[in-house]
Amino acid sequence: MNWPDIRLSDHYLIRDETRMALLTILEYPDPRLRTKARPVTVFDAALRQRIEDMFETMYAAPGIGLAASQIDWHHQLIVMDLTEDKTGRQVFINPEILTKEGSASGEEGCLSVPGIYDDVPRAERISARWQDADGQWQQQPLDGLLAVCLQHEMDHLDGKLFVDYLSELKRQRIRKKLDKERRSRTA
Ligand code: ZN
Repeated sequence: MNWPDIRLSDHYLIRDETRMALLTILEYPDPRLRTKARPVTVFDAALRQRIEDMFETMYAAPGIGLAASQIDWHHQLIVMDLTEDKTGRQVFINPEILTKEGSASGEEGCLSVPGIYDDVPRAERISARWQDADGQWQQQPLDGLLAVCLQHEMDHLDGKLFVDYLSELKRQRIRKKLDKERRSRTA
């Protein structure tokens, strides 16, 4: 990263701090995470602000993807940034997967299931369409981490979590572990 970039991003951080709102991320097994998200129909300033807040919340966590379901807003909105320097913001609104191909199994984690990682079966390549923050439809073939991440986040919009792919025994252990950590955090 060169100097002008650093100044730009510093400025950006300062500007954002003044209007930043960190949102609370719901944690498994919160039943609100099971809510099925409705489509986004209004593309206005309030939506743009919510997208900003979701990015800040995701970066602060830190994470690479966040679905609106996780912040208890049950509309079909996902933010994602797979870069390390916060330069790859992507917004997926009302996403649909048109085709799926191949299989990819990799370790996944989730901001709603903190500290837990496990293998989840996913399609390797997908073709998806979605609306951007202005309501314009986009369509693109996706693969690699981007394809896996979108499938993970779209599950959230459906009320589904990556732990649902694991055995009940594993889920029990995860619930116990998270419960214990929550208790020690509030103790
Ligand atoms: Zn997740």
